[in-house]
Amino acid sequence: MSVTVTQEGVIAWLHAFAEAVAENRAYLTDLDAAIGDADHGSNMDRGMQAVVGKLDGPFPGDAGGGIGALLKTVGMTLVSTVGGAAGPLYGTLFLQMGNAAGHGSELTVAQWAAVLEAGVKGVQARGKAELEDKTMIDALTPAAEALNVAAASGLSLADALRRAAEAAEQGMKATIPLVARKGRASYLGERSAGHQDPGATSSWLLMEAAVEALALAAPPERPGA
Ligand code: ADP
Ligand code: MG
Repeated sequence: MSVTVTQEGVIAWLHAFAEAVAENRAYLTDLDAAIGDADHGSNMDRGMQAVVGKLDGPFPGDAGGGIGALLKTVGMTLVSTVGGAAGPLYGTLFLQMGNAAGHGSELTVAQWAAVLEAGVKGVQARGKAELEDKTMIDALTPAAEALNVAAASGLSLADALRRAAEAAEQGMKATIPLVARKGRASYLGERSAGHQDPGATSSWLLMEAAVEALALAAPPERPGA
């Protein structure tokens, strides 16, 4: 099987996500203003700017720690710079992805799907949210499932990531009618219905950034590989 996800690709993905968060900072904050405390955009932007700062300096990936060490650094940076619910939850996503990724600097599509799945399971273990609780889990879980299915059916990295992003988008939109059962939005009860969840929206941006960056940075398929 050809190698597809590279450390360079992961770095490009993180940069693309940071850019997407910066561009959508006001949008994420508006969504959070409706059912939370209007800080999701600024929380995520602060965290991802700190991540970019780490990526632009010397980081563990450079010292041979591979994709795993890189992702763990991202997780620790988010935990230490983002307050509220999203910091520990996104921090856990990247920390658990890092634990699953190992020391290598290249991963197959199937390995990358397993890495994302491990991260999402970590978020679920930490936040105890189930599907349809109106959280980031509603975007992340279907994305990880779609990536696994796509990898198992032999799709290219770009196609597999596109499927994952589409699944995340559907999951994000499906949060609109839901009544929140976790996080700050749950304090609103029925009044949380009719609004898109901010965390599911940033998680969709994360999956969308992968299509644009992770796949583009991948080496071309070797003939016959
Ligand atoms: P806070 O709610 O502390 O202000 P943010 O506004 O940054 O933090 O993030 C809010 C988002 O966090 C929500 O939109 C939701 O997607 C996510 N979230 C909150 N609680 C949980 C949880 N227990 N499990 C998963 N995601 C959660
Ligand atoms: Mg908030």
